[in-house]
Amino acid sequence: MSEIPLTRGPTDFDGFSRNADMAETIVPPDGRYGVARLRNIMSIDVEDLDAMNFESMAQCRHQKLESRVCANMNVLLESLAAHGAKATMFFLGTVAERFPDLVRRADAEGHEIASHGYGHELVSRQTRDEFREDVARSIGILQQITGRPVLGYRAPSWSISNKTPWAYEVLVELGLRYDASLFPFTTYLYGDGNAPTRPFARQVGQRTLHEVPASVLCLFGRRFPFGGGFYLRAMPWLITRMATYLANRAGQPVVFYIHPREIDPQQPRFSLPWRDRLVAYANLGTTLKKVHRLLSLGPTVTVLQSLEACGMSNHATATD
Ligand SMILES: [Zn+2]
Repeated sequence: MSEIPLTRGPTDFDGFSRNADMAETIVPPDGRYGVARLRNIMSIDVEDLDAMNFESMAQCRHQKLESRVCANMNVLLESLAAHGAKATMFFLGTVAERFPDLVRRADAEGHEIASHGYGHELVSRQTRDEFREDVARSIGILQQITGRPVLGYRAPSWSISNKTPWAYEVLVELGLRYDASLFPFTTYLYGDGNAPTRPFARQVGQRTLHEVPASVLCLFGRRFPFGGGFYLRAMPWLITRMATYLANRAGQPVVFYIHPREIDPQQPRFSLPWRDRLVAYANLGTTLKKVHRLLSLGPTVTVLQSLEACGMSNHATATD
C-alpha cells in the first residue's frame, strides 16, 4: 500500500500543540506516526453485558444476566474473517478466565490479544497498587492461555488521564509497550477534550509507552468522536464514512472500537435511567451492518501491526 503524505487540509488533526499539561511527556512525532501503510485499526473490548461503569449500575448489580460474550464474539470473529481483517482484542481478565477457548480462538485466527484489565474498575477509583494488581492479573491470565507476551492495554471506560499519571508508570513496569486508553473528547462519563488526537510516544522514565488515542474528527475547531461505541451506533453511516475518509486523507488511521454487546439487539437490559440507557442501548440493531461496512473499506489491522508499520522496531523485537 502506498504511503499517504501527512497533509493539513480543511480538517485539523493536530493534537500535539494544544495540551500544555502533557507537553513535557510527549515526544513530537518523527514523521512516521500515522503515515506509513495507512490501514485502519479495529479494536474490540471483549467484555460481557455488565461491564459498564455508569454510576447507576450500582443499583443494577442484583440483576444477573446470562453471558452473551461468546455468541457475540463468534459473530464478530466470523465477520472479521470474512473480510480478511484483523483486530486487537482487549480482553477483560474475568472473561478470559471464564472463556479461555475464546482467547485461544482469537489468537489462533491472528488477532492481537491485549489487556482490558481484570475487573473493569475505573482506573481513577483504584490506588496504584490496586491498579497494578488488576492489570498484572489480566496479563498473567492472557499470557498463560496464549503463551505470548501482552503488549497493549486499554483502560475500562477510557479512565486513564492526567489525574492518574502513576498508571503509565505501572503499565511500563508491567512490560506493556502501548496504551490505547485516551479518549480525546470530554463526555459526561469519560474523556479529555485536551488530550492529543494522534498517536505519540510518551516518555515514562527511561522507557517509551506508545499512546494510540481513540479517533476524533477535528472540524471547525471542534472535535467529534465517530469511531466506535455510542458514536458509531448513533451516527448515520454516511457521517462515519465521511469522517473516516477525512482522517485517512489527512494521513491518520482510524481507531475503530466496539464491544460485543453492541451488535446484540436481543440482549436483556439493565434498568438504567434514560441517559445511561440511551448510551448503552441506542441503535444496537444497526451496529453489525456498520461493522461490515467499516470492514468493507479495507481490511483493518491490529494496534500492534499499525505501530509496527510506523517503524516501531522495538515492538517487532518484542513479538519475535
Ligand atoms: Zn470496557
